[in-house]
Amino acid sequence: MADSSFDVLVIGSGASGLAAAVSARRAGAQVALATKGALQSCNSAKAQGGIQAAFGDDDSPEQHAEDVWKSSHETADRGLVEILTGEAPSAIHWLEELGVEFTRENGGYRLARCGGASRKRLLQVGDRTGHAITTALRDSAESSDIQTYPKSPLADLARTENGWRARCGDHTIVATTVILAAGGRCFRVAEERGELSTNHPGATGEVTQIAVDLGAEVRDFDALQYHPNGGAWPENMQGYSIPETTRAYGAVLLNADGEEFTDSLGPRDAVSQAIVEEVEKGKGVETPDGRPAVYLDTTRISEADANVSLPYMLRRYRAGGIDPLRERLFTYPVLHYQNGGLVIDANAETTLEGLYACGEIAGGTHGRNRMMGNSLLECCVFGRRAGKAAAEKASS
Ligand SMILES: Cc1cc2nc3c(=O)[nH]c(=O)nc-3n(C[C@H](O)[C@H](O)[C@H](O)COP(=O)(O)OP(=O)(O)OC[C@H]3O[C@@H](n4cnc5c(N)ncnc54)[C@H](O)[C@@H]3O)c2cc1C
Repeated sequence: MADSSFDVLVIGSGASGLAAAVSARRAGAQVALATKGALQSCNSAKAQGGIQAAFGDDDSPEQHAEDVWKSSHETADRGLVEILTGEAPSAIHWLEELGVEFTRENGGYRLARCGGASRKRLLQVGDRTGHAITTALRDSAESSDIQTYPKSPLADLARTENGWRARCGDHTIVATTVILAAGGRCFRVAEERGELSTNHPGATGEVTQIAVDLGAEVRDFDALQYHPNGGAWPENMQGYSIPETTRAYGAVLLNADGEEFTDSLGPRDAVSQAIVEEVEKGKGVETPDGRPAVYLDTTRISEADANVSLPYMLRRYRAGGIDPLRERLFTYPVLHYQNGGLVIDANAETTLEGLYACGEIAGGTHGRNRMMGNSLLECCVFGRRAGKAAAEKASS
Protein backbone atom coordinates (compact mmCIF):
# COMPACT_ATOMS: atom_id res chain seq x y z
CA MET A 1 0.00 0.00 0.00
CA ALA A 2 1.52 3.35 -1.07
CA ASP A 3 1.76 6.35 1.27
CA SER A 4 0.97 8.74 -1.53
CA SER A 5 0.80 8.96 -5.29
CA PHE A 6 2.14 11.69 -7.57
CA ASP A 7 2.53 12.49 -11.24
CA VAL A 8 6.31 12.87 -10.95
CA LEU A 9 8.75 11.57 -8.33
CA VAL A 10 12.25 13.11 -8.27
CA ILE A 11 15.12 11.30 -6.52
CA GLY A 12 17.86 13.60 -5.20
CA SER A 13 18.03 17.23 -4.04
CA GLY A 14 21.14 18.52 -5.82
CA ALA A 15 20.91 21.15 -8.56
CA SER A 16 19.56 18.67 -11.12
CA GLY A 17 16.84 17.22 -8.88
CA LEU A 18 15.71 20.63 -7.67
CA ALA A 19 15.67 22.03 -11.23
CA ALA A 20 13.66 19.02 -12.39
CA ALA A 21 11.16 19.26 -9.52
CA VAL A 22 10.61 23.01 -10.01
CA SER A 23 10.14 22.53 -13.77
CA ALA A 24 7.77 19.60 -13.39
CA ARG A 25 5.66 21.61 -10.93
CA ARG A 26 5.63 24.62 -13.27
CA ALA A 27 4.44 22.27 -16.04
CA GLY A 28 1.41 21.44 -13.88
CA ALA A 29 2.43 18.11 -12.31
CA GLN A 30 1.94 16.99 -8.71
CA VAL A 31 5.53 16.45 -7.64
CA ALA A 32 7.33 14.57 -4.87
CA LEU A 33 11.06 14.84 -4.17
CA ALA A 34 12.79 12.20 -2.05
CA THR A 35 16.42 12.51 -1.03
CA LYS A 36 18.97 10.62 1.02
CA GLY A 37 19.84 13.17 3.70
CA ALA A 38 18.80 16.73 4.40
CA LEU A 39 17.57 18.68 1.39
CA GLN A 40 20.76 20.77 1.56
CA SER A 41 23.18 17.86 1.33
CA CYS A 42 24.57 17.28 -2.15
CA ASN A 43 27.68 17.88 -4.27
CA SER A 44 26.04 20.77 -6.12
CA ALA A 45 26.16 23.03 -3.08
CA LYS A 46 29.95 22.46 -2.85
CA ALA A 47 30.58 23.69 -6.40
CA GLN A 48 32.68 26.80 -6.27
CA GLY A 49 34.13 27.81 -9.61
CA GLY A 50 31.15 28.58 -11.77
CA ILE A 51 28.83 27.72 -14.64
CA GLN A 52 29.54 28.06 -18.35
CA ALA A 53 27.39 29.96 -20.86
CA ALA A 54 28.41 31.78 -24.04
CA PHE A 55 27.81 35.45 -23.28
CA GLY A 56 31.11 36.98 -24.47
CA ASP A 57 31.09 39.15 -27.65
CA ASP A 58 33.60 36.74 -29.22
CA ASP A 59 31.67 33.65 -28.15
CA SER A 60 28.69 31.57 -29.30
CA PRO A 61 26.88 28.35 -28.32
CA GLU A 62 28.56 26.73 -31.35
CA GLN A 63 32.03 27.69 -30.04
CA HIS A 64 31.06 26.39 -26.59
CA ALA A 65 29.91 23.10 -28.19
CA GLU A 66 33.19 22.84 -30.09
CA ASP A 67 35.17 23.21 -26.83
CA VAL A 68 33.06 20.51 -25.14
CA TRP A 69 33.55 18.21 -28.10
CA LYS A 70 37.32 18.71 -28.10
CA SER A 71 37.65 18.39 -24.30
CA SER A 72 35.68 15.14 -24.46
CA HIS A 73 38.20 13.91 -27.05
CA GLU A 74 35.24 13.59 -29.44
CA THR A 75 33.47 11.06 -27.24
CA ALA A 76 30.43 13.16 -26.18
CA ASP A 77 26.94 12.86 -27.67
CA ARG A 78 26.88 15.82 -30.08
CA GLY A 79 23.09 16.17 -29.93
CA LEU A 80 23.18 16.51 -26.12
CA VAL A 81 26.14 18.89 -26.32
CA GLU A 82 24.28 21.21 -28.71
CA ILE A 83 21.29 21.28 -26.36
CA LEU A 84 23.59 21.98 -23.40
CA THR A 85 25.36 24.93 -25.00
CA GLY A 86 22.35 26.22 -26.96
CA GLU A 87 20.18 26.45 -23.84
CA ALA A 88 22.92 27.74 -21.55
CA PRO A 89 22.01 31.45 -21.82
CA SER A 90 18.32 30.79 -21.11
CA ALA A 91 19.26 28.54 -18.15
CA ILE A 92 21.27 31.45 -16.71
CA HIS A 93 18.32 33.82 -17.11
CA TRP A 94 16.04 31.21 -15.47
CA LEU A 95 18.40 31.04 -12.48
CA GLU A 96 18.39 34.84 -12.29
CA GLU A 97 14.61 34.83 -12.30
CA LEU A 98 14.83 32.46 -9.30
CA GLY A 99 17.15 34.90 -7.49
CA VAL A 100 20.74 33.93 -8.36
CA GLU A 101 22.92 37.04 -8.66
CA PHE A 102 25.95 36.32 -10.82
CA THR A 103 29.05 38.45 -10.26
CA ARG A 104 29.05 41.36 -12.71
CA GLU A 105 31.61 43.91 -13.91
CA ASN A 106 31.66 46.68 -16.53
CA GLY A 107 27.94 46.33 -17.16
CA GLY A 108 28.11 42.59 -17.99
CA TYR A 109 28.89 39.26 -16.37
CA ARG A 110 32.37 38.71 -14.97
CA LEU A 111 33.55 35.88 -17.24
CA ALA A 112 36.59 33.66 -16.64
CA ARG A 113 38.30 31.19 -18.97
CA CYS A 114 38.33 27.66 -17.65
CA GLY A 115 40.40 24.63 -18.62
CA GLY A 116 39.80 23.50 -22.21
CA ALA A 117 37.82 26.64 -23.12
CA SER A 118 38.80 28.85 -26.05
CA ARG A 119 36.88 31.86 -24.68
CA LYS A 120 36.07 33.48 -21.34
CA ARG A 121 32.75 31.84 -20.55
CA LEU A 122 32.55 30.99 -16.87
CA LEU A 123 29.95 32.89 -14.82
CA GLN A 124 30.52 32.97 -11.08
CA VAL A 125 28.87 33.91 -7.83
CA GLY A 126 32.12 34.72 -6.01
CA ASP A 127 33.52 31.23 -5.42
CA ARG A 128 30.32 29.77 -4.00
CA THR A 129 28.37 29.39 -7.23
CA GLY A 130 26.85 26.00 -6.39
CA HIS A 131 25.69 27.24 -3.01
CA ALA A 132 23.93 30.23 -4.62
CA ILE A 133 22.27 28.07 -7.29
CA THR A 134 21.04 25.35 -4.93
CA THR A 135 19.78 27.91 -2.40
CA ALA A 136 17.68 29.65 -5.07
CA LEU A 137 16.34 26.36 -6.45
CA ARG A 138 15.57 25.03 -2.97
CA ASP A 139 13.77 28.24 -2.00
CA SER A 140 11.64 27.89 -5.11
CA ALA A 141 10.86 24.21 -4.41
CA GLU A 142 10.08 24.83 -0.75
CA SER A 143 7.79 27.76 -1.47
CA SER A 144 5.70 25.60 -3.81
CA ASP A 145 3.55 22.58 -2.96
CA ILE A 146 6.23 20.07 -4.00
CA GLN A 147 6.10 17.32 -1.34
CA THR A 148 9.60 16.71 0.00
CA TYR A 149 10.85 13.53 1.71
CA PRO A 150 14.26 14.19 3.33
CA LYS A 151 16.18 11.28 4.90
CA SER A 152 14.35 8.94 2.52
CA PRO A 153 16.93 7.19 0.31
CA LEU A 154 15.63 5.27 -2.68
CA ALA A 155 16.19 1.57 -1.93
CA ASP A 156 13.88 -0.07 -4.46
CA LEU A 157 12.08 0.90 -7.67
CA ALA A 158 9.60 -1.28 -9.56
CA ARG A 159 7.33 -0.85 -12.55
CA THR A 160 3.58 -0.88 -11.99
CA GLU A 161 0.77 -0.97 -14.53
CA ASN A 162 0.65 2.86 -14.73
CA GLY A 163 4.12 3.92 -13.71
CA TRP A 164 6.46 3.22 -10.82
CA ARG A 165 6.48 2.25 -7.14
CA ALA A 166 9.45 3.48 -5.11
CA ARG A 167 10.58 2.56 -1.62
CA CYS A 168 12.23 5.67 -0.17
CA GLY A 169 13.25 5.22 3.46
CA ASP A 170 10.05 4.52 5.41
CA HIS A 171 7.83 5.68 2.53
CA THR A 172 6.32 3.88 -0.42
CA ILE A 173 5.65 6.39 -3.18
CA VAL A 174 3.76 5.74 -6.40
CA ALA A 175 4.33 7.99 -9.42
CA THR A 176 3.55 7.94 -13.14
CA THR A 177 7.08 9.05 -14.04
CA VAL A 178 10.34 9.09 -12.09
CA ILE A 179 13.38 11.35 -12.48
CA LEU A 180 16.68 10.01 -11.14
CA ALA A 181 18.92 12.89 -10.03
CA ALA A 182 21.00 11.11 -7.39
CA GLY A 183 24.46 12.23 -8.56
CA GLY A 184 27.64 10.19 -9.01
CA ARG A 185 29.66 7.65 -7.04
CA CYS A 186 33.09 9.21 -6.46
CA PHE A 187 32.88 9.33 -2.67
CA ARG A 188 32.37 5.55 -2.51
CA VAL A 189 34.99 4.74 -5.16
CA ALA A 190 37.59 6.93 -3.43
CA GLU A 191 36.95 5.12 -0.17
CA GLU A 192 37.33 1.76 -1.92
CA ARG A 193 40.61 2.91 -3.51
CA GLY A 194 41.90 4.44 -0.29
CA GLU A 195 42.08 7.85 -2.01
CA LEU A 196 40.84 11.35 -1.28
CA SER A 197 37.72 12.70 -2.96
CA THR A 198 36.15 16.13 -3.27
CA ASN A 199 32.72 14.56 -3.00
CA HIS A 200 29.93 14.65 -0.49
CA PRO A 201 29.42 11.37 1.48
CA GLY A 202 26.05 10.90 -0.28
CA ALA A 203 27.80 10.31 -3.63
CA THR A 204 27.68 6.53 -3.50
CA GLY A 205 25.97 5.54 -6.77
CA GLU A 206 23.39 2.97 -5.62
CA VAL A 207 20.60 4.63 -7.62
CA THR A 208 22.47 4.03 -10.87
CA GLN A 209 22.73 0.38 -9.89
CA ILE A 210 18.97 0.24 -9.24
CA ALA A 211 18.34 1.62 -12.76
CA VAL A 212 20.85 -0.76 -14.32
CA ASP A 213 19.20 -3.72 -12.55
CA LEU A 214 15.90 -2.61 -14.12
CA GLY A 215 17.58 -2.76 -17.55
CA ALA A 216 18.64 0.88 -18.15
CA GLU A 217 21.74 1.34 -20.31
CA VAL A 218 24.88 3.21 -19.21
CA ARG A 219 27.76 4.71 -21.20
CA ASP A 220 31.35 5.76 -20.42
CA PHE A 221 30.75 4.40 -16.95
CA ASP A 222 34.39 3.58 -16.26
CA ALA A 223 35.49 7.18 -16.99
CA LEU A 224 36.01 8.85 -13.62
CA GLN A 225 37.51 12.32 -13.47
CA TYR A 226 40.31 13.51 -11.22
CA HIS A 227 40.22 17.20 -10.33
CA PRO A 228 43.76 18.40 -11.12
CA ASN A 229 43.96 20.57 -8.01
CA GLY A 230 43.07 18.71 -4.89
CA GLY A 231 44.37 20.43 -1.77
CA ALA A 232 47.35 18.43 -0.45
CA TRP A 233 48.34 20.56 2.55
CA PRO A 234 47.45 21.60 5.28
CA GLU A 235 45.74 18.46 6.54
CA ASN A 236 42.30 20.04 6.85
CA MET A 237 42.43 21.03 3.15
CA GLN A 238 43.25 17.52 1.88
CA GLY A 239 40.54 16.57 -0.63
CA TYR A 240 39.38 20.19 -1.00
CA SER A 241 39.04 21.12 -4.67
CA ILE A 242 41.04 24.29 -5.21
CA PRO A 243 38.82 26.16 -7.69
CA GLU A 244 39.97 26.00 -11.29
CA THR A 245 39.34 29.74 -11.36
CA THR A 246 42.67 30.12 -9.49
CA ARG A 247 44.28 29.08 -12.78
CA ALA A 248 41.84 31.20 -14.79
CA TYR A 249 43.04 34.22 -12.78
CA GLY A 250 46.74 33.54 -13.25
CA ALA A 251 47.91 30.69 -10.99
CA VAL A 252 50.23 28.17 -12.69
CA LEU A 253 51.49 24.69 -11.88
CA LEU A 254 55.20 24.42 -11.01
CA ASN A 255 57.48 21.47 -10.36
CA ALA A 256 60.14 21.20 -7.65
CA ASP A 257 62.53 23.34 -9.76
CA GLY A 258 59.93 26.08 -10.13
CA GLU A 259 59.34 25.23 -13.83
CA GLU A 260 55.95 25.30 -15.55
CA PHE A 261 55.56 21.75 -16.86
CA THR A 262 52.11 21.89 -18.48
CA ASP A 263 49.46 24.25 -19.87
CA SER A 264 47.68 25.08 -16.63
CA LEU A 265 44.45 25.73 -18.56
CA GLY A 266 44.47 22.50 -20.57
CA PRO A 267 41.62 19.94 -20.36
CA ARG A 268 41.27 18.41 -16.89
CA ASP A 269 42.44 14.91 -17.78
CA ALA A 270 45.55 16.29 -19.50
CA VAL A 271 46.47 18.52 -16.55
CA SER A 272 45.90 15.73 -14.00
CA GLN A 273 47.99 13.33 -16.07
CA ALA A 274 50.81 15.87 -16.39
CA ILE A 275 50.94 16.32 -12.60
CA VAL A 276 51.04 12.56 -11.96
CA GLU A 277 53.81 12.12 -14.56
CA GLU A 278 55.86 15.01 -13.15
CA VAL A 279 55.74 13.39 -9.71
CA GLU A 280 56.64 9.99 -11.21
CA LYS A 281 59.67 11.60 -12.89
CA GLY A 282 60.86 12.68 -9.45
CA LYS A 283 60.14 16.35 -10.16
CA GLY A 284 57.34 16.71 -7.66
CA VAL A 285 57.48 17.95 -4.09
CA GLU A 286 56.43 16.37 -0.80
CA THR A 287 53.92 17.77 1.67
CA PRO A 288 55.02 18.00 5.32
CA ASP A 289 53.17 14.70 5.94
CA GLY A 290 54.92 12.96 3.03
CA ARG A 291 52.25 13.10 0.32
CA PRO A 292 53.15 13.60 -3.36
CA ALA A 293 52.39 17.06 -4.75
CA VAL A 294 53.40 19.84 -7.11
CA TYR A 295 53.04 23.58 -6.50
CA LEU A 296 50.11 25.72 -7.56
CA ASP A 297 51.60 29.20 -7.66
CA THR A 298 48.64 31.25 -6.49
CA THR A 299 50.87 34.23 -5.64
CA ARG A 300 50.44 35.31 -9.30
CA ILE A 301 46.72 36.03 -8.75
CA SER A 302 46.02 39.73 -8.21
CA GLU A 303 44.54 40.68 -4.87
CA ALA A 304 41.60 42.36 -6.67
CA ASP A 305 40.70 39.20 -8.65
CA ALA A 306 41.10 37.03 -5.56
CA ASN A 307 38.88 39.24 -3.44
CA VAL A 308 36.06 39.18 -6.03
CA SER A 309 36.29 35.62 -7.34
CA LEU A 310 38.11 33.55 -4.70
CA PRO A 311 37.11 34.89 -1.26
CA TYR A 312 35.95 31.52 0.11
CA MET A 313 39.18 29.76 -0.97
CA LEU A 314 41.24 32.55 0.62
CA ARG A 315 39.29 32.30 3.87
CA ARG A 316 39.66 28.52 4.03
CA TYR A 317 43.44 28.57 3.48
CA ARG A 318 44.07 31.56 5.70
CA ALA A 319 42.15 29.83 8.49
CA GLY A 320 44.61 26.94 8.05
CA GLY A 321 47.58 29.32 8.40
CA ILE A 322 48.48 29.66 4.70
CA ASP A 323 47.98 32.83 2.63
CA PRO A 324 47.65 31.76 -1.04
CA LEU A 325 48.52 35.27 -2.22
CA ARG A 326 51.90 35.09 -0.42
CA GLU A 327 52.89 31.42 -0.73
CA ARG A 328 52.44 28.59 -3.22
CA LEU A 329 49.98 25.78 -2.47
CA PHE A 330 50.66 22.05 -2.45
CA THR A 331 48.31 20.27 -4.87
CA TYR A 332 47.71 16.80 -6.33
CA PRO A 333 44.82 15.31 -8.38
CA VAL A 334 41.86 14.02 -6.43
CA LEU A 335 38.84 11.90 -7.43
CA HIS A 336 36.05 14.27 -8.39
CA TYR A 337 33.41 13.37 -10.98
CA GLN A 338 31.66 10.52 -12.76
CA ASN A 339 31.86 11.47 -16.46
CA GLY A 340 29.59 8.71 -17.77
CA GLY A 341 26.26 7.40 -16.54
CA LEU A 342 22.75 6.48 -17.62
CA VAL A 343 22.07 6.87 -21.34
CA ILE A 344 19.52 9.64 -21.97
CA ASP A 345 17.81 11.21 -24.97
CA ALA A 346 17.15 14.89 -25.65
CA ASN A 347 14.31 14.90 -23.07
CA ALA A 348 16.56 13.23 -20.48
CA GLU A 349 14.57 9.99 -20.73
CA THR A 350 16.64 6.87 -20.07
CA THR A 351 16.34 3.77 -22.22
CA LEU A 352 13.39 2.79 -19.97
CA GLU A 353 10.13 4.59 -20.78
CA GLY A 354 8.92 6.92 -18.04
CA LEU A 355 12.27 6.85 -16.23
CA TYR A 356 14.34 10.03 -16.61
CA ALA A 357 17.86 10.93 -15.47
CA CYS A 358 19.65 14.28 -15.19
CA GLY A 359 22.83 15.69 -13.70
CA GLU A 360 25.90 13.64 -12.82
CA ILE A 361 23.97 10.34 -12.87
CA ALA A 362 23.44 10.72 -16.65
CA GLY A 363 26.06 10.15 -19.36
CA GLY A 364 26.75 11.51 -22.83
CA THR A 365 26.92 15.28 -22.37
CA HIS A 366 30.61 15.29 -21.42
CA GLY A 367 31.73 12.04 -23.04
CA ARG A 368 34.75 10.71 -21.18
CA ASN A 369 36.11 14.07 -19.94
CA ARG A 370 33.99 16.92 -18.56
CA MET A 371 34.99 20.57 -18.72
CA MET A 372 34.73 22.56 -15.56
CA GLY A 373 31.51 24.59 -15.27
CA ASN A 374 29.47 22.31 -17.52
CA SER A 375 28.11 20.13 -14.73
CA LEU A 376 26.06 22.82 -12.99
CA LEU A 377 24.95 23.81 -16.48
CA GLU A 378 23.93 20.24 -17.32
CA CYS A 379 21.96 20.06 -14.05
CA CYS A 380 19.95 23.14 -15.02
CA VAL A 381 19.49 22.47 -18.74
CA PHE A 382 18.64 18.77 -18.49
CA GLY A 383 16.94 19.11 -15.09
CA ARG A 384 14.52 21.55 -16.70
CA ARG A 385 14.04 19.29 -19.72
CA ALA A 386 13.50 16.20 -17.55
CA GLY A 387 10.96 17.98 -15.35
CA LYS A 388 8.93 19.27 -18.28
CA ALA A 389 9.02 16.00 -20.23
CA ALA A 390 8.19 13.85 -17.18
CA ALA A 391 5.22 16.13 -16.35
CA GLU A 392 3.95 16.01 -19.92
CA LYS A 393 4.23 12.23 -20.10
CA ALA A 394 2.43 11.88 -16.78
CA SER A 395 -0.49 13.94 -18.06
CA SER A 396 -0.75 12.23 -21.47
C1 LIG B 1 33.85 20.32 -4.49
C2 LIG B 1 33.16 20.35 -5.83
C3 LIG B 1 33.30 21.47 -6.64
C4 LIG B 1 32.65 21.51 -7.87
N1 LIG B 1 32.73 22.64 -8.65
C5 LIG B 1 32.00 22.71 -9.79
C6 LIG B 1 31.93 23.93 -10.53
O1 LIG B 1 32.52 24.94 -10.15
N2 LIG B 1 31.18 23.95 -11.65
C7 LIG B 1 30.48 22.86 -12.10
O2 LIG B 1 29.79 22.94 -13.13
N3 LIG B 1 30.52 21.70 -11.41
C8 LIG B 1 31.25 21.61 -10.27
N4 LIG B 1 31.26 20.44 -9.56
C9 LIG B 1 30.47 19.32 -10.04
C10 LIG B 1 29.02 19.55 -9.78
O3 LIG B 1 28.83 20.30 -8.61
C11 LIG B 1 28.26 18.24 -9.61
O4 LIG B 1 28.65 17.31 -10.52
C12 LIG B 1 26.79 18.50 -9.83
O5 LIG B 1 26.38 19.57 -9.04
C13 LIG B 1 26.01 17.25 -9.53
O6 LIG B 1 24.67 17.61 -9.34
P1 LIG B 1 23.59 16.47 -9.19
O7 LIG B 1 22.30 17.17 -8.92
O8 LIG B 1 23.66 15.57 -10.34
O9 LIG B 1 24.10 15.63 -7.93
P2 LIG B 1 24.34 16.08 -6.41
O10 LIG B 1 24.43 17.53 -6.27
O11 LIG B 1 25.45 15.23 -5.92
O12 LIG B 1 22.99 15.63 -5.72
C14 LIG B 1 22.63 14.26 -5.63
C15 LIG B 1 21.51 14.14 -4.64
O13 LIG B 1 21.03 12.80 -4.63
C16 LIG B 1 20.91 12.36 -3.29
N5 LIG B 1 21.00 10.90 -3.27
C17 LIG B 1 22.08 10.10 -3.42
N6 LIG B 1 21.72 8.81 -3.29
C18 LIG B 1 20.38 8.79 -3.07
C19 LIG B 1 19.42 7.79 -2.83
N7 LIG B 1 19.75 6.49 -2.76
N8 LIG B 1 18.13 8.14 -2.64
C20 LIG B 1 17.76 9.45 -2.65
N9 LIG B 1 18.63 10.45 -2.86
C21 LIG B 1 19.92 10.13 -3.07
C22 LIG B 1 22.04 13.07 -2.57
O14 LIG B 1 21.86 13.08 -1.19
C23 LIG B 1 21.93 14.46 -3.21
O15 LIG B 1 20.90 15.21 -2.60
C24 LIG B 1 31.90 20.39 -8.31
C25 LIG B 1 31.77 19.27 -7.49
C26 LIG B 1 32.39 19.24 -6.26
C27 LIG B 1 32.23 18.02 -5.41
